[in-house]
Amino acid sequence: MRRKMAAGNWKMNGLKSSLAELEKLARAHPTASCDLLICPPATLLCAAATTCGNSAIRIGGQTCHEATSGAHTGDISAQMLRDAGATAVILGHSERRQDHDERSEDVRLLAQSAQSAGLQTVICVGESLFQRDATNTLDIIGAQLSLSIPDSSTGENLVVAYEPVWAIGSGLTPTTDQIGEVHDFMRARLEQRFGYGVGKSVRLLYGGSVKPANAAEIFAISNVDGALVGGASLKADDFAPIIAALE
Ligand code: 13P
Repeated sequence: MRRKMAAGNWKMNGLKSSLAELEKLARAHPTASCDLLICPPATLLCAAATTCGNSAIRIGGQTCHEATSGAHTGDISAQMLRDAGATAVILGHSERRQDHDERSEDVRLLAQSAQSAGLQTVICVGESLFQRDATNTLDIIGAQLSLSIPDSSTGENLVVAYEPVWAIGSGLTPTTDQIGEVHDFMRARLEQRFGYGVGKSVRLLYGGSVKPANAAEIFAISNVDGALVGGASLKADDFAPIIAALE
């Protein structure tokens, strides 16, 4: 049985005052029957790790640099994320792929570096609306999976998030059949590449307009092991019911 996972991606949102929401969430979850991860902006990592203390919530970064240290102004290494209290990092989010021209080959290097530093990697894949309309979804996802995921991946250090680009922040979600088709495909690809044991144990998250109102329906889809949540992870009152739908 794979342990379910609810992950929150705060993106470029959150000031010190936002830690009150995290504190509320942490207080409500001293323990949990699923993995809980919040990825705040880098400026809040240390404080967020302190806020979560001994609660069930772990802290993650939103990207990292492939090098361990050096002359890379403005960048953060995986080792630095660890040092700040992170145990995981989101990599290859479509906003990074778009805004920073990250290609799948780049994502793989970042993931190698993060996994070597002992971080769990949440690697994101997803098609654009144009690609879906052209019925290229599975080809796109297949290519992103094979190029973005490093060979060093295991059931523990790899989580894959399927986030259709057109569903992010739009209020649109794919049908349950569309999500199921992609998740079954991803499972089969992972089993093919890493063998049945590892392929079976990697958690597959769905992301894109997950809300308290649609969480239970999405979590009932086969091979959906949880969610990567953007907007609805910013407020404890929105994220807590999503966690409850998973537990
Ligand atoms: P929304 O939940 O705001 O659609 O964002 C999803 C996402 O991009 C999480 O990484």
